[in-house]
Amino acid sequence: MRFLGGYPPGVLDQVRELAAAGKLGEHISRRYPDQHGVQSDRALYDYASELKQEFLRSAPPLHKVGYDARLDTAHKALGLHTAISRVQGGKLKAKKEIRVASLFKEAPSEFLRMIVVHELAHLKESDHNKAFYRLCEHMEPRYHQLEFDTRLWLAWRELERGST
Ligand SMILES: [Zn+2]
Repeated sequence: MRFLGGYPPGVLDQVRELAAAGKLGEHISRRYPDQHGVQSDRALYDYASELKQEFLRSAPPLHKVGYDARLDTAHKALGLHTAISRVQGGKLKAKKEIRVASLFKEAPSEFLRMIVVHELAHLKESDHNKAFYRLCEHMEPRYHQLEFDTRLWLAWRELERGST
């Protein structure tokens, strides 16, 4: 199943069963009923800045945060973190930018939090290594569960689109 590669076969069987019974969407929305109000780039910037201020004060400042409609889930189903290097006054400065796929505007609030935590962690760790995931869990103790459930939600959305 797309988005869920790497998870144990037993788990994937359960997901397939739920999907086949048409109960995947309900399964997700029952556990994550809350929508969020972060609907603009400005709101997303504030949202990410607050989290950064709370947990990652020492990380480089954020230059830009926004939703990107061109980003689809193909990009590993997650956001896109970019560090653009620019020469400024003879010094090379890395500009930290966070872009989140626009479809997260419609996500349950926990999934937006998960994706922003993920992108913020990349300010300090570029790879998906142990230190990276420790940082994610520091910012959001339910990180791993939320990442799995976000992938589940993405898979469900794709199934829905395919069936209409
Ligand atoms: Zn990543």
